[in-house]
Parts: sequence; C-alpha cells; structure tokens
Amino acid sequence: MSKDPKIIIITAPSGAGKTSITRHLLGKYPQLAFSISACTRSPRHHEKDGVDYYFLSLDDFKQKIQQNAFAEWEMVYEGKYYGTLKSELERIWSMGKTPLLDIEVKGAIHLQAQYPQATLSLFIEPPSVEELRRRLETRGTETAESLRDRVNKASYELSFKHHFDKIIVNSVLDKACQEADETIKNFLGL
Ligand code: 5GP
Repeated sequence: MSKDPKIIIITAPSGAGKTSITRHLLGKYPQLAFSISACTRSPRHHEKDGVDYYFLSLDDFKQKIQQNAFAEWEMVYEGKYYGTLKSELERIWSMGKTPLLDIEVKGAIHLQAQYPQATLSLFIEPPSVEELRRRLETRGTETAESLRDRVNKASYELSFKHHFDKIIVNSVLDKACQEADETIKNFLGL
C-alpha cells in the first residue's frame, strides 16, 4: 500500500455532470484509478461486471454489509444498494494509485468522515435546479415520475454542498474540468 493513501470523491446530484468530469480526470491523470463500486441493480446493456460495477445479488451485498466489507454504502434508489468495498480501495492503493470515486452525496459524507485526513471531496453543482431538470429531460432516460423524484432529490442533495472541500459549479463543462484539475493537482502535489 502507498505510504500516504489518498481518496478523491466526486459527488453531485444526478445530472450535474459528475460522470463527464470523472472521465476527464481519469483520462488526464494516470495517478488516478476509477473505484469500481458494488451495486445490486442490473447491468445496463454496455456495462461489464468488474469494469463499471461489481454487480452483486441483494443477498451477497447484505452479507458484505454484515462482514463490514464496505467503506460506505447506501440504498440510492428504492431497493437498490450501492457501496465502496474496502478491498477496492486497497486494490488501487496497492497499485500506488489514488482511487477516484463517483458516488452520491450521503455515501460521500460517510466516506469523508471515515478517512478525514485522506480525502479530497469535490461537489459538482448544477447551475440551477431548472437547468438540471432540462439536462435530465434532454438525456431522455427518465419517466415523468422518475424525473420528478430526481429533481426533488437533487434539491435535497444541494443542501449538503457545504460538507465538501470544494464546490464546482458546472455551467460550462470545460471550465468545471479546469477547476477540478487545479484542485486535484494541488491535492496530489503535481
Ligand atoms: P447509476 O445507477 O446511474 O450508475 O448510479 C446511480 C447513483 O449511484 C449515482 O449518483 C452514482 O454516483 C451513485 N453511486 C455509484 N456507486 C456508488 C457507491 O459506491 N456508493 C454510493 N453511495 N453511491 C454510488
């Protein structure tokens, strides 16, 4: 394991653009590795087990909770569990890299509380809740009901933004990526 293990968390309400920023950072910094979460939802058609997620059955996930195998876990959607395995952080540290986590807000707060010295947390804020609604509509993945749920949840999650080390407003993706770059370079001492 690296002598000075670090963790970088990217968190945001759904639709704020955290996946794009995560991809940008992974492409730019070979020092980072994507932390593959475990989850109980089904894989989407392009997703691979052990690459996008470790897809677990509900029983297996619950067993790992009992075994204290998670650094954090949450029921993100009704009946759907997501979590960061301690073994995943260890796997990345053992390669001499820093895990980059793309996780939702509550899990991010829990993880940060557990590793306060080691973490840098970035909260990606949408320019407004209205803009977030528009982005989710354009993405076309939501039903009217799930859109309403996500927008309500996003408003709630925005109220936690001050728990994080750095808030980045994502109005223009390039600018948000640049801001994330600066913060990460400082944190990693690059
Ligand atoms: P999706 O199902 O769209 O891949 O992800 C749903 C949400 O779960 C996203 O906000 C994603 O960031 C979050 N998520 C993914 N992995 C984890 C995890 O390990 N822990 C927590 N708390 N949230 C996660």
